Amino acid sequence: MNLGLNVIDSSQRRTILLALLVTGGILVIDSSAVNLDGYLMIEVAFFGTAGSRSYAERDNSFLGLIVNGNKYLIDCAGSPVHKAERAKFDWTSIDGVILTHWHVDHVYGLPSLVQHLKFIGRTDTLSIFCLETVAEKLASLSEVFNLSPSRGYPVMEIHPVIAGEESPFIIRSDHAIFPISGKHSIPSFGVRVDDFISGKKVVYSSDTWRSEAILAAAMDADLLIHEASFLDEDLPEARVLGHCTAGEAGRIARRCRAKQLALIHLHREKEIEIQRFNQEAELEYGAKVHIPDDLSWLRVE
Ligand SMILES: [Zn+2]
Ligand SMILES: [Zn+2]
Repeated sequence: MNLGLNVIDSSQRRTILLALLVTGGILVIDSSAVNLDGYLMIEVAFFGTAGSRSYAERDNSFLGLIVNGNKYLIDCAGSPVHKAERAKFDWTSIDGVILTHWHVDHVYGLPSLVQHLKFIGRTDTLSIFCLETVAEKLASLSEVFNLSPSRGYPVMEIHPVIAGEESPFIIRSDHAIFPISGKHSIPSFGVRVDDFISGKKVVYSSDTWRSEAILAAAMDADLLIHEASFLDEDLPEARVLGHCTAGEAGRIARRCRAKQLALIHLHREKEIEIQRFNQEAELEYGAKVHIPDDLSWLRVE
């Protein structure tokens, strides 16, 4: 099939992909006519991989997510534009920001992102997907920094997320993103990303104690990104604070038969201790566990 296009923007691409789905899902692309490089995959940029305590090698955990070219941030910690540019993630055209919960280490970069969007003259609204309680905080944040559209800031359009709801909070022709209930010290949700084109599934736990909902959502996932704030020796503390251990993350990944496991939100102060997380999780998972460096990428295609 020659689609007769040399350059496609994201809306055109969605139309093409929808047409392909509707017409039976047979995907035949003449790659000389349509450049789909960078599409048809889920890509995750690890802007930070530390727990709430950052240190020289690792900053607070947050992610860039690209699904078939659609760009999202999952949480927004320190210096988001600096991180995005170093990771070569195009932040200027992001489709939305998903805020999993209102802990400082997950949200404190948002005013800076909004300010940078003003600097580049973005007029499109910035979609923010968050719990209703977080929406109230965002209103206060906007007031504190006076991020008013009348002063040139982009409109922050809030899309309330109900954790535990089975329907997606983002649904496009080629992908959907679902909330998953976590068990944290405050309301928090993880995300499940379904790519309809490749059939791949990526799950991110965000901050949580062991969650059956996350385990169920991650069944046979192509990539499970799970928090591992502690080691098993700190299990009582992890449970009280609503976090997981590397061992728990490994056990969850084994039970849900995740094809790849990546650990982030590592609550340590020294890089030399990180290998203990790896060893503990691998022992339980029974396969290699990936601990991404800050600003590195994982691609599922
Ligand atoms: Zn956190
Ligand atoms: Zn948290």
